[in-house]
Amino acid sequence: PAEAEFMNEPVSDFSRVPVRQAMAAALDHRRALLGQRLDVMKLALHPPTGPDLSSFNPSRPGELVSVVSSYQPPDVASLVKAAERHADAWKERSVADRVAVMRKAASLMRAQRWELAALEVYEEGKPWREADADIAEAIDFLEYYARDMARLDPPPHLGRYPGELNELYWTARGLTAVIAPWNFPLAIPTGMVAAALVAGNPVLFKPSERASAIGYQLVRILLDAGVPKGLLQYVPGGPDLGRELVISAAVRTIAFTGSKDVGLSIIEAASTLQPGQHVVKRVIAEMGGKNAIIVDETADLDEAVTGVVQSFTSYAGQKCSACSRVIVSDMVHDAFLDRLSDAVMSLRIGTADDPATQVGPVIDSRAKRRILDYIEIGRREGRVVVDRSTEGPGYTVGPVVIADIEPNHRLAQEEIFGPVLAVMRAASFEQALHLANGTAYALTGGLYSRSPRHIARAREAFDVGNLYINRAITGALVGRQPFGGHRLSGVGAKAGGDDYVKQFLVARVVSEQT
Ligand code: GLU
Repeated sequence: PAEAEFMNEPVSDFSRVPVRQAMAAALDHRRALLGQRLDVMKLALHPPTGPDLSSFNPSRPGELVSVVSSYQPPDVASLVKAAERHADAWKERSVADRVAVMRKAASLMRAQRWELAALEVYEEGKPWREADADIAEAIDFLEYYARDMARLDPPPHLGRYPGELNELYWTARGLTAVIAPWNFPLAIPTGMVAAALVAGNPVLFKPSERASAIGYQLVRILLDAGVPKGLLQYVPGGPDLGRELVISAAVRTIAFTGSKDVGLSIIEAASTLQPGQHVVKRVIAEMGGKNAIIVDETADLDEAVTGVVQSFTSYAGQKCSACSRVIVSDMVHDAFLDRLSDAVMSLRIGTADDPATQVGPVIDSRAKRRILDYIEIGRREGRVVVDRSTEGPGYTVGPVVIADIEPNHRLAQEEIFGPVLAVMRAASFEQALHLANGTAYALTGGLYSRSPRHIARAREAFDVGNLYINRAITGALVGRQPFGGHRLSGVGAKAGGDDYVKQFLVARVVSEQT
């Protein structure tokens, strides 16, 4: 069936009064629901047996956002059984049917976008624009992966040889565990869950413990759109539950986004054959980054300052795509640093529900402590040029810029996941590239330059999954900048790209002599 061409969902223009009012109304409405207990049994067949998980507002930590009962490792056997009961019926539904369900979910999300964004403002401390962009990206994933699956059906014919018909059939791999992060609390789980579902698989979805409420909304929307209850299950719980899902003999595919350490432990655990396991598990893991932007001597410094500031401070640096190193040509280093400092000093720090806020809080007290620890390390390793770390409400850590960082420093090598920028100097463009490539990660990178030679050289030698030239390095768009890295940044096809859905499928080739 001819699907309309994919178009990215537009983000909202909050400079328009009606748009601002719609978001403000949703925030008021959500505010009245704070502290609510989520009824898991509305989404589940098997009751949770674990302790309550509570989420709090990072802008005002005393404010309870929601409470939900969790699952424990011994629940996994029943969850798996329920999922498997529905597996065949879903797999046998036509591709067109499954595609229609995903597109219906996209339209439900569109209709509820303010409510969903408002919930992220409270639960994850996402400022308005960031929350809104997350909902738009979730809609994109539903629309994009639906179309991608539609392209694989009917089975493509391979080659042309008289007397022989070769067809490529794509069929569901089987039970998928989705282990999701909190930083893009709707978009990233929607992408992983939608790809698995549209491919015909049952899904056990464990949201991050810090994103139980928005994860609940995702499953509610998918069930409302027509996904059978039981086929997709909402499984809130802690790391021990995640581990049990990974090692369950019935789970065939694990889609994970999160830290490098957790990702590597999943890959290790998934590689041990369990009794009764008849398949090599596939792990799709999107992990961290230590992303650099190079600013050379030909760069437009105003553009570079804007792009670097946005890339290291948006959502308080809590993106695996965030910039955490800027590598500046000796020739413009001091001028750049002056302008950068002014720009960082003028950022507005505040609560996420205030539309004027540019830097909001980080997710929780543990994250805040970790970031503050890194700032202390940075103080010893380099020279602090901007320190707004003590400003702001709740779990806020304001932006910090630390210059004179050397390649062997921890600030040059370790992912911080907060608004902390390490500034490094380069004597030549080749040295800048060498520094940029000098970490274990390869996720995003950026270059500000007006030199065609430097731009060409970066295209060939800047070793990252997503390279951005003369623009900010976060905010990859589905279909336009398929997203994901290599080296220790992850394994698997890029999210929002053509190969992603295939990871949830098995390919079978049938040749018939005619
Ligand atoms: N796709 C997001 C971006 O381009 C980053 C995803 C992540 O942090 O996991 O900014």
